[in-house]
Amino acid sequence: MLNILIIGNGQCGNRILDSINRHALGGGKSCGRLARFYSRQRFKSRVETLALNTAVNDLKEMKFTKARDRIHIEHLHGVGANRNIGKQVFEDKKERIMRQIEERGSFDIAFLITSASGGTGSSFTPLLVKEMKNRYNYPVYCLVVLPFREEGTLYLQNTAFSIREIRQSGADGMILADNQYLKNIGGSIQEAYNGINDMIAERILFLLDALDSEMMMVTDLGDFKSVMSGGAGLATMGFFKSDRETSIKTAIQSTLSPAGLLFSTDVYKEASRAMVIIKGDRKYLNVDDISDEIEKLSRAIGHVFKGIIVRSGEFPQVLSVLTLESAHEMEKLYSVAIQAIQQEKEKKQRVEKEAELDKTFSMIEGLEPEY
Ligand code: GDP
Repeated sequence: MLNILIIGNGQCGNRILDSINRHALGGGKSCGRLARFYSRQRFKSRVETLALNTAVNDLKEMKFTKARDRIHIEHLHGVGANRNIGKQVFEDKKERIMRQIEERGSFDIAFLITSASGGTGSSFTPLLVKEMKNRYNYPVYCLVVLPFREEGTLYLQNTAFSIREIRQSGADGMILADNQYLKNIGGSIQEAYNGINDMIAERILFLLDALDSEMMMVTDLGDFKSVMSGGAGLATMGFFKSDRETSIKTAIQSTLSPAGLLFSTDVYKEASRAMVIIKGDRKYLNVDDISDEIEKLSRAIGHVFKGIIVRSGEFPQVLSVLTLESAHEMEKLYSVAIQAIQQEKEKKQRVEKEAELDKTFSMIEGLEPEY
């Protein structure tokens, strides 16, 4: 049995964590509010979840995460997308945060979930990774959500800096999910968020299930670590869940296709290592077809680990974890972020000019109009 820690930082991290808990509690959309009190989590592993936030309202909004797992790190009403304030709050409250982790025992693996662009999650996450890597020797992976590109200059610049800091923090890998890429899920912004959060939750839960399952063909935590250590420190995940009889070839292709991935990439060109886990009734799992598809991928990228979990009566489901050796979309994001930083810089200079104007105004200090 694996001991797994999942931490959601900031609003986005909290919401995705809540979605994970909802699914783990057996929650489809009909799962009621009281489920958290009456159902037992369906995790096979021992999973501890922890939500950290400076904004108490974000924590209150969570419905499926126990109250003792929602930790308010007091700072007024949040840090207002200012990562410098966020970092300072983390440093001030570090021991309190670390005590929360300590109290939950020891772990084999940890996942930290955050948006790259906000204030709290994006500033806490790199510092928390660094602290955890100093104190513990289990791997720490970050799941990082990228912003809609039209959300503004502050979010874009936060993204550029936080991604770099997470890479430098000692994290064992970073799994990307891109709001911009996933936004065509449709509906209102809240519906889009919920849809994206569910997609991420579904993939994480499948992964946890797989890491702790008896498999016909084995992939385990060791293989996951090997996959995540490949490439340029960036990864993404693909998933396909069939609700009817689907050929296993189609299921594997779908998990690697744009519709299945959380981040825009051509896996055959940009992936570096992969893990493909297939679950379903034995009658859908034609081993030759599976090998054909896996070999196609490994010819293009190098090494692919494969795992098969037999679940009688279940239609095929496939999860892929792919590390990337290049990420064209990330390069595009950084060039937009550089423009955003420049824009903010120019704005600041303009504000400084305004301060000069204040000096001009203050020249009449102490004088009265004479008529
Ligand atoms: P923080 O609370 O200060 O860490 O800030 P947020 O987590 O709210 O970060 C803002 C970013 O997160 C923006 O790019 C939002 O689009 C994104 N975001 C906020 N809530 C959600 C959510 O529920 N799901 C997803 N996918 N993204 C979210």
